[in-house]
Amino acid sequence: MADVKLQPERWSLKELFPSPEGPELDQASHQLDGMLSEFERCRERLRPDLGEDEFVQILRQYELAVRKIARIVNYGALLFYEDTQNQKSQSLFAQGRQTAAEFENRTLFFKLWWKNLADEPAKRLMAAAGEERYWLEVLRLQKPYTLTEPEEKVINLKDVNGHQALVALYETITSRYSYTIEIDGEVKQLTEEELFVHVRSPKPELRKAAYQELHRVYQQDAPILGQIYQSIARDWGSEQIDLRGFSSPLAVRNLANNVPDEVVDTLLAVCRENVSIFHRFFKLKAKWIGMDRLGRYDLYAPVVETDRTYAFQESVDIVLDSFSRFDPRIAKLARRVFDENHIDGELRKGKRGGAFCATVEPALTPWVLQSFTGKPDDVATMAHEFGHAIHSMLAEHHSALTQESSLPLAETASTFAEMLVVDQLLATDPDPELQRDLLFRQMDHAYASITRQAYFAIFEREAHQRVKDGGSVDDLTEVYFNNLKEQFADSVDLSEDFRNEWLRVGHFFFAPFYVYAYSFGQLLVFALYQQYKAEGEPFKPRYLEILAAGGSDSPVRILDRAGINVRSAEFWRGGFQVLEEALERLTSLEVTAGVG
Ligand SMILES: [Zn+2]
Repeated sequence: MADVKLQPERWSLKELFPSPEGPELDQASHQLDGMLSEFERCRERLRPDLGEDEFVQILRQYELAVRKIARIVNYGALLFYEDTQNQKSQSLFAQGRQTAAEFENRTLFFKLWWKNLADEPAKRLMAAAGEERYWLEVLRLQKPYTLTEPEEKVINLKDVNGHQALVALYETITSRYSYTIEIDGEVKQLTEEELFVHVRSPKPELRKAAYQELHRVYQQDAPILGQIYQSIARDWGSEQIDLRGFSSPLAVRNLANNVPDEVVDTLLAVCRENVSIFHRFFKLKAKWIGMDRLGRYDLYAPVVETDRTYAFQESVDIVLDSFSRFDPRIAKLARRVFDENHIDGELRKGKRGGAFCATVEPALTPWVLQSFTGKPDDVATMAHEFGHAIHSMLAEHHSALTQESSLPLAETASTFAEMLVVDQLLATDPDPELQRDLLFRQMDHAYASITRQAYFAIFEREAHQRVKDGGSVDDLTEVYFNNLKEQFADSVDLSEDFRNEWLRVGHFFFAPFYVYAYSFGQLLVFALYQQYKAEGEPFKPRYLEILAAGGSDSPVRILDRAGINVRSAEFWRGGFQVLEEALERLTSLEVTAGVG
């Protein structure tokens, strides 16, 4: 690996299937069909006096079918993400969603039987279930909110062309967008990722132009995208609250995460209570870039003009090296992703935006997608996505039902990995501009992943209520703008074009209330990272134990075992204390205004 310089390229999906055209995909679908027919035959054996061995065997059948369908569905999805404009991939992606809906329908009887089983036999069978115990426990959490089998079937079928179709429509519309911007006298056509690089440009006029062009394009479709959002929020309300009986739109996500409502309320309240840290940060930042006050366009401005870029190979080396210093086993796991060519780092038009890590099933190394442009930020993103991959691989001894952690812990390994890499860069690269850039970046990032996300969730809470009350798209835009005003107070000049910013937050569309998991995960990691610095070696096994638990237990129990109490506001405030210290450190630096 040391001899051949890695370049960002397209990933290989061959371990899933050799090609979209070959017979293998159809064969797998037939095999899946056979497995499901076999599974359906266990239906008449499902009685309260079912033997433990028989129950475990049924669970095993189900888990194998989940592995099979995960390969089929993820293949279509990953093909689609590598080229969203490819028609074959579009149809495989759609077929995959259809297959998943059918799978749900054909196996629903088992989950419903399990959910409705009386407590005594459920307890007896759960005790025998071993690896799948927590998965079974989670299914029963939904018991009070579960409808009859025919009703659940109708919802599953209608979702394919309902919520899921709306999300696909949103993604198709927005990933087709192309942006026109003048850079150094040259007019350029850019993708959203390419455009977004300029939001962090050292040139104020370029940052402004990038944001204005971004908002101009979204603004044109605001009535359509806003209507899509309203439909999604109405669907969420009518299904989850009216039909299933959840107490609030947010409570749906909390139960799915198995985090008590009061823990999430505490998290959001503490984020709101500590927003002034960022007011002070933004004011400090204004001094550094020689402005009286920041404009919203300047939020992610680099304080020091660094043109430092990283070759792909260099970035890989930095990431693996910092992992290795923490624990060589971690680096070894990350290396597997490269060795198996499971990373798509290339810049291509039509490729899905952003970055992600996809875990398919425990027997397969996860796949990572990012659009690598060589900025220091891309090095951190690489570490972030590899953190996800490591989390999955540390938990690959679990089953397909319990490998992946639920949302609140899903960002733990990724954010921790990012902090390791940033600390390593701070420790090893003496370039003062890079040092300051990285410190500011850490604060910028903490804002974007903690407070901004918490305010997103606060917006969603209000937006869902407004939609329920018959609010218009304009009303939602007003709610969003007021949310921004509270968030920035007098520290930042808000411009009107940010009213429509909410339309480009994909999470609001495809996973309502997903966003607070970022705040949860990030604040949690600050607290954990502080312990790591204080304890050193003894911290490592506790931390790795959290990761290796995967999704085999509830987040709160996993954290309890590591001595973390997320019910306490004090715990969350501790995360902000780390940020206070970072801000103090920044404040003590000599300001050399105007370098930006
Ligand atoms: Zn992540």
